[in-house]
Amino acid sequence: MLKDQDRIFTNLYGMHDRSLAGAKKRGHWDGTADIIKRGRDAIVDEMKKSGLRGRGGAGFPTGLKWSFMPKESDGRPAYLVVNADESEPGTCKDREIMRHDPHTLIEGCLIASFAMNAHACYIYIRGEYIREKEALQNAIDEAYEDGLLGRNAAGSGWDFDLYLHHGAGAYICGEETALLESLEGKKGMPRMKPPFPAGAGLYGCPTTVNNVESIAVVPTILRRGAEWFSSFGRPNNAGTKVFAISGHVNNPCVVEEEMSISFEELIDRHCGGIRGGWDNLKAVIPGGSSVPCIRGENMREAIMDFDWLREQRSGLGTAAVIVMDKSTDIIKAIWRLSKFYKHESCGQCTPCREGTGWMMRVMDRLVRGEAEVEEIDMLLDVTKQVEGHTICALGDAAAWPIQGLIRNFRDEIEDRIRHKRGPIAAE
Ligand code: SF4
Repeated sequence: MLKDQDRIFTNLYGMHDRSLAGAKKRGHWDGTADIIKRGRDAIVDEMKKSGLRGRGGAGFPTGLKWSFMPKESDGRPAYLVVNADESEPGTCKDREIMRHDPHTLIEGCLIASFAMNAHACYIYIRGEYIREKEALQNAIDEAYEDGLLGRNAAGSGWDFDLYLHHGAGAYICGEETALLESLEGKKGMPRMKPPFPAGAGLYGCPTTVNNVESIAVVPTILRRGAEWFSSFGRPNNAGTKVFAISGHVNNPCVVEEEMSISFEELIDRHCGGIRGGWDNLKAVIPGGSSVPCIRGENMREAIMDFDWLREQRSGLGTAAVIVMDKSTDIIKAIWRLSKFYKHESCGQCTPCREGTGWMMRVMDRLVRGEAEVEEIDMLLDVTKQVEGHTICALGDAAAWPIQGLIRNFRDEIEDRIRHKRGPIAAE
């Protein structure tokens, strides 16, 4: 279990002073200029050594991503863009960071931008996050007044501006290239890759897009050292991690824990157990709505990290853990996600535009049992035709929950169809 002295987010629950003075008392903004004076390469190397993998869902190594940025400018400015669009159903971890511990993020923006030769950083915050935007903007204003941002930021010799941009509430703007389009004032539609943002991102300039948590942990990693950070979790799954647990647990919560904590410990220690006890657990979506669900009995031994969950054909994603007990109509729950992805498809590519609607309509009939058993395989086949055949990952995100449902609960879907048809038809 993570000890209090090893927590990066010391005000995740909003129990303490979230102002700059409070943040400084808790150790933030301590020696920021000294960290920057270590130099760009030293910072990037330390981040690589820490083993931090991106906390936005894909789990790509953060230090390595930073190293893709050009070492020397060709005349174009470089940008850091922080993805605070947090719209994946079930995910609510960055929100706690922004409203209760915003200075972790702001200090991280400065250091990370310096490491990538960027004098400007944009935080793109989800449209629905009104109070979070206010809290973060207040914190940014405080940091400017204190000389931590702006010219010679924090006395480091680096000029740095931080802008907060409020989105308009489209899920797809959480996709990094759609986010860049939106930031440029265009419709939030994903771009074809390549070129990747490190080559041509915001306004055609080298850009790195990172998740809020990935950036907010940077100052503490650099203060306490890569070895400290990588001492948590299993190899290749290093660090502490903010988990957001919702659904049928006794106390849903957002908590920072060690990566690779067991699911059982996470739930029993922080969430007061499963509603109705462990035998009442039906299924878990371990990483936000786009990852496939896992059957409850297979979660008893689960290790909550990137690699273990991937081996189970699911994923850690954003570590938004959605717990479902036996009262759940799992077919209907997944149908609801299908409806969400259909609604949020930007419509740019055919497999996604047509496929999400098609999948949702079949799911709609499966919920009511008004389908043929053979259609289950047909639906599975369509998910495979969508998966991997689209411009962005929304196509995959729409396909995977259905694949997880069919893989784990095919018997339940078949039972419903047979039951609907009555005993004679079922024979
Ligand atoms: Fe748009 Fe869907 Fe294509 Fe992504 S996969 S670009 S959301 S149509």
